[in-house]
Amino acid sequence: AAAPVLLSLSNLKVAYGGIQAVKGVSLEVREGELVSLIGANGAGKTTSLKAVTGLQPVADGDVSYLGRSIRGQGAWDLAKQGLVMVPEGRGTFTRMTITENLQMGAYVRDDKDIDADIEKVFAIFPRLKERRDQLAGTMSGGEQQMLAMGRALMARPKVLLLDEPSMGLSPIMVDKIFEVVADIHRQGVTILLVEQNASRALALASRGYVMDSGQITMTGPGRQLLDDPKVREAYLGH
Ligand code: ATP
Repeated sequence: AAAPVLLSLSNLKVAYGGIQAVKGVSLEVREGELVSLIGANGAGKTTSLKAVTGLQPVADGDVSYLGRSIRGQGAWDLAKQGLVMVPEGRGTFTRMTITENLQMGAYVRDDKDIDADIEKVFAIFPRLKERRDQLAGTMSGGEQQMLAMGRALMARPKVLLLDEPSMGLSPIMVDKIFEVVADIHRQGVTILLVEQNASRALALASRGYVMDSGQITMTGPGRQLLDDPKVREAYLGH
């Protein structure tokens, strides 16, 4: 039997004023999957995630999590239920240390085992351990991405929403970030990954969705999309 659907978007529409950015998107994420949502700049990927976590109002359609509609719920309430987003641009607390940022990530849950969970995050990101007492604002872009992901893990997510984690990073750091995404997935966290880096995102994905001008244009197993001539031409440049 197929794993249960944890997150689903059905005919989701989102607008900025008169501009429809998301024009009826349907997608689902099942327990244990890593689902990649790819597409060009401005396709509406980030806007879709924002609508899931209540950062942007839903104009029409629905979003459900664990079988119930979450329309209108805010990021904090959702994080408490295990649906946690790592935003584009990271949003770390720049004037707090690495350790303090990680502690903040645990605010949505009971305060047992926080130190043990910080050690688990440090095991995934040794760089953060080295810099545990450094202010987050003084870290490189890649390090701040690691911190944002580490902070999200502190909430003990069931489903992690990652918005363009590789954006603006050096090639070595991009490798590292995708390795960690795969690692977190292997550890049992269900992931919805939004990426412009289509080849890397599809290579990791159980399933993928291609988004163009506010709509889903293709879907299928990650490998199948990666080998599709139309996807290769439009998103991989060959
Ligand atoms: P990117 O990779 O650049 O983040 P994306 O696929 O995530 O692209 P969105 O950021 O969701 O795309 O943008 C979708 C559309 O909505 C674009 O046309 C964009 O210009 C528009 N848009 C995004 N944010 C706003 C905003 N705050 N106000 C008005 N229009 C917006």
